[in-house]
Amino acid sequence: MSNTALNQALEILKKASHIAAFTGAGISVESGIPPFRGETGLWSKYDPIVLDLDYYLSQTEESWKVVKEIFYDFFGQARPNPAHLALAQMEAAGLIKEVITQNIDNLHQEAGSKIVHEFHGNSHQLVCTHCNQLFPLEKIQLTENPPACPACSHLLKPDFIFFGEGIPDAAYNASIEAARQADVFLVIGTTGEVMPACQIPVIAKQNGVTIIEINTEPSLYTPQITDLFLQGKAGEILDQIAKQLIPTI
Ligand code: NAD
Repeated sequence: MSNTALNQALEILKKASHIAAFTGAGISVESGIPPFRGETGLWSKYDPIVLDLDYYLSQTEESWKVVKEIFYDFFGQARPNPAHLALAQMEAAGLIKEVITQNIDNLHQEAGSKIVHEFHGNSHQLVCTHCNQLFPLEKIQLTENPPACPACSHLLKPDFIFFGEGIPDAAYNASIEAARQADVFLVIGTTGEVMPACQIPVIAKQNGVTIIEINTEPSLYTPQITDLFLQGKAGEILDQIAKQLIPTI
């Protein structure tokens, strides 16, 4: 990334009154969580069918074994990286209003971000497939056997959306509202391929929002809607941006 591009981004961000961040799997790569796609992506090792709702309900033991391995044994070890921390610092300093994330790893909240619209839910909560009660992860002991609801004994599932499920209403509506109200979107570490989440920056652009994209490589957005592309690792770039915009850190 050139210094010119970084300086241009800083000028845009300084003048903005409503900045929203839109994040994808790439922001958590520096925390050790691989993305789904690509040569080293999770789907090169696992079959995505385990995240199909009907499959989880019918082949529960097989599906749970893989879900636990990926999202709890493996993701569970991850900690926020400088990209998550920079966004949280920028929110605390009044520079960023909200984060819209496609991620389910809870790392924005662990970094200190307060307003996080989770487009795909969160793995740190489980929901009963029968009575719909929610349980924080720490209240459920995860074993090799599929977890049972403490209230009604039916099957629990992670509270992120599986294939075949809809986007949570609150996150969807808040994201559309952000796309209407913001003047700058920081689009970070996302290919722009996952529907319908990928439409949010497009709707923002249609509403006149300036799109600053941070990614190690061009995405579907780059030639289509991106106004300024900062190529590089999210942790390094956002750390520089936060340090420039918040002199006290
Ligand atoms: P993706 O897997 O399709 O793409 C990841 C993007 O991140 C790519 O564009 C890649 O170039 C970029 N990237 C990689 N390393 C980066 C870095 N250090 N800094 C900046 N960018 C980097 O991700 P997606 O578009 O978010 O879609 C995948 C879907 O899978 C999402 O909907 C998400 O819910 C889910 N997912 C979530 C997690 C998580 O919670 N951490 C992990 C994997 C997948």
